[in-house]
Amino acid sequence: MRYVSTRGQAPVLSFEAAMLSGLARDGGLYVPEAVPVMPPDEIAALAGLSYEDAAYRVMRPFVGDCFSDGEFRAIIGRAYAGFGHPARCPLVQIGPNDWLLELHHGPTLAFKDLAMQLVGQMFEAVLARRAERVTIVGATSGDTGSAAIEAFRGLDAADLFILYPRGRVSEVQRRQMTTPTEANVHAIAVEGDFDDCQALLKAMFNDHAFRDEVALATVNSINWVRVLAQVVYYFTAAVALGAPGRAVSFSVPTGNFGDIFAGHVARRMGLPIERLIIATNENDILHRTLESGVYETRGVTPTTSPSMDIQVSSNFERLLFELYDNDGGAVARSMAELGESGRFALSQGAVARLREGFASARSDQAATAAMIARVAREGGPVLDPHSAIGVVAARACRGDPSVPMIALGTAHAAKFPDAVGDACGVRPALPARLADLYEREERITVVANDLASVEALVRQNRMEQRQA
Ligand SMILES: *Cc1c(COP(=O)(O)O)cnc(C)c1O
Repeated sequence: MRYVSTRGQAPVLSFEAAMLSGLARDGGLYVPEAVPVMPPDEIAALAGLSYEDAAYRVMRPFVGDCFSDGEFRAIIGRAYAGFGHPARCPLVQIGPNDWLLELHHGPTLAFKDLAMQLVGQMFEAVLARRAERVTIVGATSGDTGSAAIEAFRGLDAADLFILYPRGRVSEVQRRQMTTPTEANVHAIAVEGDFDDCQALLKAMFNDHAFRDEVALATVNSINWVRVLAQVVYYFTAAVALGAPGRAVSFSVPTGNFGDIFAGHVARRMGLPIERLIIATNENDILHRTLESGVYETRGVTPTTSPSMDIQVSSNFERLLFELYDNDGGAVARSMAELGESGRFALSQGAVARLREGFASARSDQAATAAMIARVAREGGPVLDPHSAIGVVAARACRGDPSVPMIALGTAHAAKFPDAVGDACGVRPALPARLADLYEREERITVVANDLASVEALVRQNRMEQRQA
């Protein structure tokens, strides 16, 4: 399987090279040249398998010859061994034909663990074989950073630097990033918002001299492996509810468009998905794009669902590439326009296809809080604000009631105890394995929103540098 850039100018790469490079050299994102189709009998055969076995079958065609079958099985096994639920991603019923797919049973209590644990194990295996080390940088609005630090702490293959917007992540998220003591992982508080962090990350990649000097890699959702790992649970959930014999719908709390793009990939692979719903908070660029056909940035509004407080959805570029029939030049022009004027208009054909493939709904903080209270009152699980936005959108775009509706539960309520407590009067407790998080000592590094300062910090703190 070969991977091409969404901007059409970077070299075509193998799975391994695409994984290690993250952002393509032309500024684009890597996508598979062709999406493999899983015939209905192979989809049906996933029923009853362990999550790990299903993951192996869904992801195998994408990985090519990067790993032997045995090696790939072992990597998947290590990735999910630390999860706190035997099903890994259990389905919980929250209405007559309505379900919550709980994706928060990993070490940092958000769905990011499902991809990040796999990415960590893949990097470790590939880099050990190549006898190389890399410097990984990531930008986070909260959950990616803690998941990455948890996945890479103590691994030999990489130094990890996570940029987060100072004061804009929850206390649990911050503590999960600042309390690990391993010398190869670093959380850095940037004086700016998430989009500033993301812009710094992109700028480091576009500084080719720096990129080569430190062997830069990224595990942000622009890394294809992140998307790939998330394709798996769309299959396991749909099959548990009757696919491929019957279609299901998904509602996905969306920020960077990584998780929902994975659902779109699952659909292209042949999974029957009736509706794929983009659920947004007040930072609703995607919802507005569906309505108006214009992708237009506005400032970021901080909300009780900080992992969705974004201005630009990086992974939307992957969909755009498809909407423009894999014309990298057209994508590059749209992105250049976005950089210059903060907006671009989609072609009429692209808008029509976007609306064919996706529905969308927006929930504001009041509606989100009301949904947390309502589901708890009805005897359902205590939802975190992100998951509640998914449920609001699921109900707003319900459609045919005979089609199972699955809302993605993207975080554990205890990650956002203030917002959840305010909404329903119950302050959710951390699971036992994280119970002492508030007592652990923090390491906090603050840096200006400035490329040279961030690059200097990375240079000085790499293990190689410190050991020299
Ligand atoms: C990251 C995150 C999201 C948004 O996912 P994207 O892939 O960025 O669209 C939603 N909810 C939670 C809890 C998250 O951590």
